[in-house]
Amino acid sequence: MIPYGRQEITQADIDAVIDVLQSDFLTQGPMVPRFEQAIANHVGATYALAVNSATAALHLGCLALELGPGDWLWTSPITFVASANCARYCGANVDFVDIDSQTYNMCPQALERKLLLAEREGRLPKVVVPVHLCGLSCDMAAIYALGKRFGFRIIEDASHAVGGKHKEDFIGSCRYSDIVVFSFHPVKIITTGEGGMALTNDRSLANRMELLRSHGITREIEKMTHAPDGAWYYQQIDLGFNYRMTELQAALGLSQASRLDEYVARRHVLACRYDELLAKLPVITPWQGPDNYSGLHLYVIRICLNMVKVSHKTVFDVLRKEDIGVNLHYIPVYKQPYYQELGYEPSNFPEAEKYYSEAISLPMYPTLTEVQQDKVVAALHKALQL
Ligand SMILES: *Cc1c(COP(=O)(O)O)cnc(C)c1O
Repeated sequence: MIPYGRQEITQADIDAVIDVLQSDFLTQGPMVPRFEQAIANHVGATYALAVNSATAALHLGCLALELGPGDWLWTSPITFVASANCARYCGANVDFVDIDSQTYNMCPQALERKLLLAEREGRLPKVVVPVHLCGLSCDMAAIYALGKRFGFRIIEDASHAVGGKHKEDFIGSCRYSDIVVFSFHPVKIITTGEGGMALTNDRSLANRMELLRSHGITREIEKMTHAPDGAWYYQQIDLGFNYRMTELQAALGLSQASRLDEYVARRHVLACRYDELLAKLPVITPWQGPDNYSGLHLYVIRICLNMVKVSHKTVFDVLRKEDIGVNLHYIPVYKQPYYQELGYEPSNFPEAEKYYSEAISLPMYPTLTEVQQDKVVAALHKALQL
């Protein structure tokens, strides 16, 4: 099976992890701050907090922005469930903004229309979570402008997008948002096994996320309610979690990060090759605007169903039978039974519905070979019955 995504682990990665195993610290040592600094420097953010998943980073981000019961968080329906679940952890409500038909990201015009309506009904969102699907940046300048006008805060879910750029800025710079979140799950761009990171340029948000990452416990005297009882003393001043990343993970991440630009460049070579090989097929290949340099976590095609005699499901099944590990990113979140119970109307999201009826993710990862890619394309020819 050629999977849709997978990690590359080099001898340098293995050596880096072994060095940590033989060191004094398996957690809470020097590697986590080094990894944080490396990523912050790379993407141009001021503060970075490594955590044990992007899901944890999203949760900390929502808590730092004081999302709570009665508040609304809006995100894209075409995303992994974690982009919405973070609101539910905080007791807040979730709603969705339909996607753009070309980029598959949250549509700024649909967002504006929904905001105008919500303003009249007095239920404006407190937090909006744009998702850079496949690694392609959302129109952040437009979303940021709407944030200023309607008074919401922004967490970019950049789980797919580390190493990607919009114009001159690396995704993660937080230029148009309060917080940016990366995932280091093995199918993503670089990996720490499990892991994630929250980046921000706001010191108070960074401090708050750091506190909540580790139980709400502080050892800083100025944050305590009274002077320390002794040298052993710490205070829990809020209800936090254990969302820490281990030293093993950080060492792996730091080693992987040294190949970040190389990985994204390789993904672009593969995407260009797919674009050429698929140019004459009844499929829509991913859009790449002139201002964007996608992280290219995923390579999603859409089947032109009016040009083929087979169904979307048949194309998918044939590809799987041909040992191509295709996938579908994503089932619209409002279709999940958990969210259905909260009540959403699919007809409010026509572009997401259409996307879901046509999309297929083809294999895309740095070690994918041209021979494997040719096999994917041949299987796609067969599946489309051309
Ligand atoms: C993978 C992913 C997440 C969750 O990342 P974890 O590190 O697995 O928690 C969140 N949002 C999106 C869009 C993702 O793809």
